[in-house]
Amino acid sequence: MENFANKLLQHYDQHARALPWRLTCDPYKIWLSEIMLQQTTVATVTPYFLKFLEHFPTITELAKADLQEVLTLWQGLGYYSRARNLHKCAQVVVSDYDATFPSTEKELLSLSGIGPYTAAAIGAIAFENHTTVVDGNVERVISRLYRIEEPLPNSKKAITAKAKTLTPQKRSGDYAGAIMDLGATICTPKKPNCSGCPVADLCKSAFTEDASTFPRKIKKKKPPSYQGTAYCIFDKQGKIYLQKRADKGLMAELWEVPNENWPDKENTNLTDKKVAAFIKKSVFESCGDIKHTFTHFKLTLDVQVYKTDKPLEQTFGLDALPPLPTLFHKVIAKALEA
Ligand code: SF4
Repeated sequence: MENFANKLLQHYDQHARALPWRLTCDPYKIWLSEIMLQQTTVATVTPYFLKFLEHFPTITELAKADLQEVLTLWQGLGYYSRARNLHKCAQVVVSDYDATFPSTEKELLSLSGIGPYTAAAIGAIAFENHTTVVDGNVERVISRLYRIEEPLPNSKKAITAKAKTLTPQKRSGDYAGAIMDLGATICTPKKPNCSGCPVADLCKSAFTEDASTFPRKIKKKKPPSYQGTAYCIFDKQGKIYLQKRADKGLMAELWEVPNENWPDKENTNLTDKKVAAFIKKSVFESCGDIKHTFTHFKLTLDVQVYKTDKPLEQTFGLDALPPLPTLFHKVIAKALEA
């Protein structure tokens, strides 16, 4: 596979995707993009990346910001622990590293929210370290190149070892971009475009019918499904009552409407006793279900609505909502249909 990196880099020089974080070697911007891109597509991330840079042009400004402001800007990107870690990481870089990102893999790995993949990507792209990035795109390309029969996740070690042997000594950052582009645009999950592939002559799966069956995967168990209820209480002005979630666990520190019965019947998220009593004695109107998929389970919430003339504490205008997870944006949208 001597020519692999050369062929890929030649192709990259002419066809690299024009992504906003490709115009820089600034570790702050590279880090921001890599955190946002975890489990999220380029198309979704791009406007968020630009919006974050507008609000926080430097890591110092991000570190100084209030967490709620960061969570508000993050709304819609999901996996909110990334936003909390982003904020924590910025504060540590400012306090411990004089607002300059460290360059070694060991130091990068010690920062909140930075795992092996992200450390390798920042190292290669921002600092030209000789590190190897292995994300889902790279796993797909390598498993097809060598027709690795062992299923993921057990084959991770073998895939990483092969990926390391292919990584060139020079142009590590460009190479990282090139192999990720190959996976994202040519060696795609369902229909690899072998006729447009710059490394087809080196690939054991090129033009084969089963190329798309790599990487082999152990069949996942069907995720469990839960059913619960969400209570939307509106006051006279059309403002909605919201409560803040706990500072740990799923969707921590975000806001929500009161809800209960998921993942099990005993689980109630009616945090304010007065509001819980109000819900118990009031007759709500059901306006239908919303469905939401989390990483490990599926949820259906019956959305119930109540409009009251009584004044409520902690209500928010719909044009000034605090940071809400997508789940509760869906709930409120459903309630407004009523
Ligand atoms: S030849 Fe086909 S299967 Fe092999 S890396 Fe290229 S696109 Fe993927």
